[in-house]
Amino acid sequence: MPVKILVVGSLNMDLVATVEALPQVGETLTGKRFDTYPGGKGANQAVAAARMGASVAMLGAVGSEDYGRRLLDGLTLDDIDVSGVAVLPGVPTGTALITVSADGHNTIIVIPGANGAVQPADLDAAADAFEACEVVVLQLELPMAAVVRAAALARSLGKKVVLNPAPFQPMPQTLISLVDVLVVNEIEGLQLSGLGGGLNDNAQAGTGPHHEEVMDALVAQGYPVVLMTLGAEGVLYTGEGLSGHVPAATVKAVDTTAAGDTFTGTFAAFWPEVGLERAVALAVEAAGIAVTRPGAQTSIPYRRELSVVGD
Ligand code: ATP
Repeated sequence: MPVKILVVGSLNMDLVATVEALPQVGETLTGKRFDTYPGGKGANQAVAAARMGASVAMLGAVGSEDYGRRLLDGLTLDDIDVSGVAVLPGVPTGTALITVSADGHNTIIVIPGANGAVQPADLDAAADAFEACEVVVLQLELPMAAVVRAAALARSLGKKVVLNPAPFQPMPQTLISLVDVLVVNEIEGLQLSGLGGGLNDNAQAGTGPHHEEVMDALVAQGYPVVLMTLGAEGVLYTGEGLSGHVPAATVKAVDTTAAGDTFTGTFAAFWPEVGLERAVALAVEAAGIAVTRPGAQTSIPYRRELSVVGD
């Protein structure tokens, strides 16, 4: 039986400019190309989970224009149940303005649009979808009140809650206490741990706290499982009485967009089936494939591409 996942989260159209080097403040430069790709952290994680063989439903909202339609069509092609995604007339679909440099780095500005219209009451109205799943996957691209209600509903029905607190923002204690698995990247980990919020801590090796200190601080906040992704260095994990590091494969990264989402969605799809350590290893392998391809959902691999699963 496939693992049943409910993703409550964002759907965005990614508007991607490819440039040689990221622009400086005040700089105008000529880009190499422009592409539109289906994205949004919620939708990306839903696609990753579905391509790994999970049965996935999604709750969220899009506008009724072309972007919204394209996003829903794409998810449907991946067999994701989008009947719980509201189509809101007169509201723009969420967009993300992304710049990708030749060395694979990116900057991202997200404009919430319809994602910002999702209310706690919309989730109460979708209680059946919570009832039907095993794992609820959340990010922070919907209004915080909606995220908190989703976590509370999930918990009240005995479901597991996987939270990827991105983009980072302060979280109410109620939400923290409802999380089973926390998935952060280095920057989010630093911010959430309270050990250092500055980008310099992350960008300049050795100037910030050690990763282990960040992990310890997060575990002390009470999350049963903490996963911290470290880009090309792989992932640190703690939980279920285990802790360790899974290194990433050495690959040629062309676009890291959705690497973290591929990790989170893949982890959620495998975790109930194979446990923490193996789910982390599979998710690292999937994310390592995603960075070798352009785009968000276009870059997410399928279960059959993982060497260690193979079916
Ligand atoms: P993004 O926001 O770009 O989607 P993120 O900041 O959320 O990513 P990262 O820690 O950068 O998350 O990457 C997530 C995972 O993707 C890593 O833990 C790793 O497994 C894989 N990954 C990222 N970059 C690389 C790379 N250059 N080589 C191999 N694997 C990578």
